[in-house]
Amino acid sequence: MTARHIPFMTLAPREDGAAVRGAIERVVARGWYVLGPEVEAFESEFAAAMGAASSVGVGNGTDAIALILRALGIGPGDEVITTPLSAAYSALAVVMAGARPVFADIDPERLTLDPEQVARAIGPRTRAILPVHLYGQAADMEAIGRLASRHNLAVVEDCCQAHLATSGGRPVGTIGIAGAFSFYPTKNLGALGDAGAVVTSDRALADRVRRLRNGGQTDRYHHAEAGVNSRLDEMQAAVLRARLPFLRGWTARRRALAARYRSALAAASPAIEMPREMDAGHVYHLFVVRAKARADLQARLAADGIETLIHYPIPIPRQPALADTRPADCPIANRACEEILSLPLHPGLSDEDADAVAAAIVNKGSGVVS
Ligand SMILES: *Cc1c(COP(=O)(O)O)cnc(C)c1O
Repeated sequence: MTARHIPFMTLAPREDGAAVRGAIERVVARGWYVLGPEVEAFESEFAAAMGAASSVGVGNGTDAIALILRALGIGPGDEVITTPLSAAYSALAVVMAGARPVFADIDPERLTLDPEQVARAIGPRTRAILPVHLYGQAADMEAIGRLASRHNLAVVEDCCQAHLATSGGRPVGTIGIAGAFSFYPTKNLGALGDAGAVVTSDRALADRVRRLRNGGQTDRYHHAEAGVNSRLDEMQAAVLRARLPFLRGWTARRRALAARYRSALAAASPAIEMPREMDAGHVYHLFVVRAKARADLQARLAADGIETLIHYPIPIPRQPALADTRPADCPIANRACEEILSLPLHPGLSDEDADAVAAAIVNKGSGVVS
């Protein structure tokens, strides 16, 4: 047997290593660690890269969502419609803001919020829709935007998996009132720890988030409202500034690997299905296939030295943490959670390793069928 090992991903710096180390040195030497020049520079560089007027650095992606909602005045007594298939943090952020998440089922092909289900979930307390651009592909923003304007709802975009993704050519995060980004180390743009940002073209909203992230202070020691401590620190901001120039190239590499998987894996159908690419602006945070015999496939790939993960095994409404939110049966999401499997895909993955993963699946796939 071969001693092959293809990890799900690797996080050590590669071509960005010198720039990352230089950035850390610069921050250490300057001796300024919170809310300083690196955060300010990153905010303007990130806003420009995402096509937004403003960006506010915060502690993580969850806080980014919660702070947008709070800055919009959404809280206790309000409902926010969101998806059952995402990191649970999407819905937990709604709870953090004091509002109630209401789940609408997903579109079976795109795997993001189904606008028809959203329409059904809108009630008198609904204030916002929180679509998640899952796996790097935008939700159906045109239909969601139409619904939102008809019902006077805010659209807050969870862009935590979708750095540089577009929807019909428009950058995600700029379509709704604001977008929330995470720079958790595994994301398409990752820090060396937790970090996040809000983007918006509404300057007043940006100012309110900026105040909320820093304890609600207007001036030093003057707290106008009960904000939180969720500041992006100088070290992470400097690391993100060092990596941002690489993001376009890394995204192109992700798309190239996804195309390679798509053509190689066509041979594994119907045992293994690939969700269709619905938008050319997909940035492939994850490459996810569906298999009825998923446990079997995952175990056999593991035996072949190929690491896979499941994003996500439990629909959010079935999480005990969210048991007291409005019950929602989301059969499409429930079924997806039983079949989805994420394959290794990151900018450092070689063509050879991608081919080996695909070949292993095509062989296993036919085994599963027989
Ligand atoms: C990662 C992620 C979050 C949470 O971001 P953190 O920085 O870990 O708080 C929220 N939503 C989605 C879709 C994510 O992938």
